[in-house]
Amino acid sequence: MNGFEKTRELVEAIARTGRAERGVSRLALTESDREARAIAVSEMESLGMTVRTDACCNIWAEYPGTSDQPGVVIGSHLDSVPEGGDYDGVLGVCAGLGVVRDILAENPHPARSLSVVVFTSEESSRFSLATIGSKAATGNLTTMDTLRFKDKNGTTLLKALRDFGGQPEYLCRDALAPASYHSYFELHIEQGPVLDWNSEDVGIVEAIAAPTRFMLDIQGEQAHSGACPMNLRHDALTAAAEIILAVERAGRAESDFGTVATVGVCECRPGAMNVVPGRVTLKVDIRGIVEKSIARAYNDVMEKVKKVCAERGVTCNFTLYSADKPVAMDGLLARRVEKSCRELGVKYRRMPSGAGHDAMYMATLIPSALIFVPCKDGVSHSPAETIDWERVRPGYDVLLNTVRGIVM
Ligand SMILES: [Zn+2]
Repeated sequence: MNGFEKTRELVEAIARTGRAERGVSRLALTESDREARAIAVSEMESLGMTVRTDACCNIWAEYPGTSDQPGVVIGSHLDSVPEGGDYDGVLGVCAGLGVVRDILAENPHPARSLSVVVFTSEESSRFSLATIGSKAATGNLTTMDTLRFKDKNGTTLLKALRDFGGQPEYLCRDALAPASYHSYFELHIEQGPVLDWNSEDVGIVEAIAAPTRFMLDIQGEQAHSGACPMNLRHDALTAAAEIILAVERAGRAESDFGTVATVGVCECRPGAMNVVPGRVTLKVDIRGIVEKSIARAYNDVMEKVKKVCAERGVTCNFTLYSADKPVAMDGLLARRVEKSCRELGVKYRRMPSGAGHDAMYMATLIPSALIFVPCKDGVSHSPAETIDWERVRPGYDVLLNTVRGIVM
């Protein structure tokens, strides 16, 4: 069996773990996560790789090279969102294993080592914190952080890691040294429609958008919906409505720069038909790859919030969750990937990534490349997530060709 066929077999086997009524629900550090990891580990072992699990439960499998030059690591994640799809993350891990298989079949003594990594909890679904494993691996997660983040049952990330066999008290010890690898590669479904709709097979990511996320807690005055006249109201929901539209306008105004802005959560209290809403919580997510554009969108929203509060006699509390900087992928590595596309005659485009990925943190220490392959209509984080394997093959071949060129 060649590496590409093996990739497909592994993806299909892993998709059976955490199978839910709709899609897959393979939340991080749960039994189904353990089952998925076991499938990957069994393949790592059969390839003759040495497998180790670090303090954050990231799995690192390595096949040694004949030289002591730093090796190549390929990876992604196996956890999913609730009712997610079969390919998000899983494809990147399995394609890494497929590539190792193909390279070793050609030459069992590569000059550089070949590694595959499975990062813990890339999705924020369980602990409200994304890219946990790659944050830890790059020294961006402390033991204190693991105490702060909890799942909806109140289990701390620290306890979940410990129960899963990790050592959250040693996160710092296990962080990678800069340049400990020659390069990091991640193959991922695009999770957007650009490649699919343009009949292109590979996206070479130039930068990963960084989210600025915040909560707006709008306090109005709760009142009787029958007895309180219109001119005396301080309706928190109508204030929120104006702000939601302002967020959309701010995103649209910056769309030439690839910035997007979304209100994904709107909680209205008390939420009764006969009550003028007294309090509304909005959660806002603004992302882009151009810092100034993100800042403009953010400032537009904040101006509007002030204006709405003044006009409507409501108040607003602001909580900033994150304001990360966009992360550039390695330019030289992107050019290597581009060269592979040309050699193989693959239709590609250079593009930004709107979604966050483990490559974002790996890029802080190791030259990193993120390669997108199309998924049907860009649908992801959904049971409807599907791929056409024949349209994934070019991306796989590009990954194989590029990695082969480095390690042989
Ligand atoms: Zn993913």
